[in-house]
Amino acid sequence: MLTNLVKKSIYSVYSSKSLQAFDLNLGYIFHTEWLYHTATFDQLLAFCKNYTSLTRAKVICTIMTGVNPLVQAGMKKENCSAELFLERVNKLSHVATIGYHGHFWTNTHRFNEAAFAIHSNTFEPPLLQPQLGADLNWFQQNKVEHNGIYAAGWWFTNSYLLEQLLQANFTVDYSFSKAPYFYNAFSMKLMQEHNIKTGEAFFVRPKQSTKRMLCIQNLIGAHDSPFVLDFDRNLKKILDSKNVYGVLNAHDYDRSFTYTLKCIEHLLKDANAKFFGHTELVEFASMAQVKEILI
Ligand SMILES: [Zn+2]
Repeated sequence: MLTNLVKKSIYSVYSSKSLQAFDLNLGYIFHTEWLYHTATFDQLLAFCKNYTSLTRAKVICTIMTGVNPLVQAGMKKENCSAELFLERVNKLSHVATIGYHGHFWTNTHRFNEAAFAIHSNTFEPPLLQPQLGADLNWFQQNKVEHNGIYAAGWWFTNSYLLEQLLQANFTVDYSFSKAPYFYNAFSMKLMQEHNIKTGEAFFVRPKQSTKRMLCIQNLIGAHDSPFVLDFDRNLKKILDSKNVYGVLNAHDYDRSFTYTLKCIEHLLKDANAKFFGHTELVEFASMAQVKEILI
């Protein structure tokens, strides 16, 4: 980790416009996990509004549902009723595009222990089904529209999950990434085998299926730093082509919204970045030559 003093010195000679060499087409996605927490929710709501006034685009908020064990524990702790939780989701849907953020366990009663979290493929795939089913029921019963959007918890994805999501009429996935902390063995292998560049969208289609999922990549996280050039430096580490199209991701609960907005202002002003909402990102992909990968 670089210290602030070292950063100050590096950035005094670092061009603020170096990202202009790339054509940046960006969206912004939240892994929304703390809707039960009042202060976090209020900040998130304000951020979504500020983001739209800066970029004219809408944030995507993929949410963990009210029946997820981790969320239920949080609701209990924060005294947030199911009604209040739902009221917040509905409020959020006015300023953001809602999607689904899944977190699964090999034993849902032991959700507080890392050993039971599903990150990789060392489990029996059917263990997922009841948890996914419960989440999808929650959307249906509460008339919350997930807009066919999925983003993976702990970056866990595999062909079984993608098939299940397609069967449930999901159409766009934001779970693939080339950033060092944001992939699992399945997602990275798939992208490497098919020469997918950083920020290149692609379709995946299960061999027996006529349906396919548009995969829009995560680039990097929104950094939590007063130095906007931290973002440029880290993004360039993973860029391998001029055309960059994807989303920046963040949790709702662990960042400085002020720094993030400052960084977005910098990207608009110094990098000529363009920001899009979910619908525009999907339209953008439909105009390009997008590879289809059989899974
Ligand atoms: Zn998550």
